[in-house]
Amino acid sequence: NTNSSVLASKSQRVYMSDLENVIRYSLKQEVGVHDVLEEAQLKALKYYLEILIKYFPGRPPIKRFLKELEKWVTQRISEVVDTEVFLNYIDNIQSDTIQLPVMREWQACQGSKPTFRGYPCGVWMLFHTLTVQALEDFNKGGTDNPREVLFAMRDYVRNFFTCHYCARHFAEMAADLQTDLVNPNDTVLWLWRAHNRVNRRLAGDASEDPYHPKVQFPTIQLCPDCHIKTTWNSTAVMNYLMKFYGEKNFADFEGH
Ligand code: FAD
Repeated sequence: NTNSSVLASKSQRVYMSDLENVIRYSLKQEVGVHDVLEEAQLKALKYYLEILIKYFPGRPPIKRFLKELEKWVTQRISEVVDTEVFLNYIDNIQSDTIQLPVMREWQACQGSKPTFRGYPCGVWMLFHTLTVQALEDFNKGGTDNPREVLFAMRDYVRNFFTCHYCARHFAEMAADLQTDLVNPNDTVLWLWRAHNRVNRRLAGDASEDPYHPKVQFPTIQLCPDCHIKTTWNSTAVMNYLMKFYGEKNFADFEGH
């Protein structure tokens, strides 16, 4: 039916509004649910903001918001910050030129029911986008450390991800991150592999949206060249991911 074909075609693009939803939700509903933010959390938050500032291809008012917040967090890094103070700050610094994103209807991450997809889907898409942006930046002679995206993600998930068993599983996968990441390309491929391991584990789980079955990504339909018999052509996968999460594949909000 039309609804399922719309959902299917939207899930082939990256929507800036989905990525903005993740930023808002992560700050308000994940960082914001702690009573206080101690040094470990403030460091993880600062790291998360730093990689967003460096690699998130966002609109200027959002980037300014992230920079202001990063400065505020840096000034308090060895304090214990009451989360209410943090939440008041993010609500009050906003102006025409400094904006925390607003929450909009999920696009690529829209589920066939409200209980499916949404935020966790957006988290994956944001971090895949950041690994791709960091690698592009490295290839252009910018950053010398594209790996930092995954270290920041690991620390964010450990400190803030409210799905605690997800965080535990992710920590297990990321236990050897330091040694797993040798070449600059490894960041993009590491996250792709980790995500496929999660997809494999969750196939058939109650959390699976029937309109979006957990499959090994990209499927043979999406990328025939990525598959060689029973294994992957990692060069083709790399190219596919760079295109899929590259800015040319970004789409504009199509909801209400
Ligand atoms: P998602 O798996 O969220 O994928 C979102 C989109 O990413 C897909 O639509 C597709 O376009 C793209 N994609 C899919 N696979 C790949 C890939 N390999 N590489 C690149 N892009 C890809 N849920 C649990 O129940 N248990 C867990 O342990 C768990 N751990 C998680 C750990 C992390 C770090 C995160 C962010 C989420 C975790 N989740 C876990 C949630 C789960 O992985 C899904 O996000 C959720 O079930 C929604 O699934 P989805 O169908 O929207 O697709």
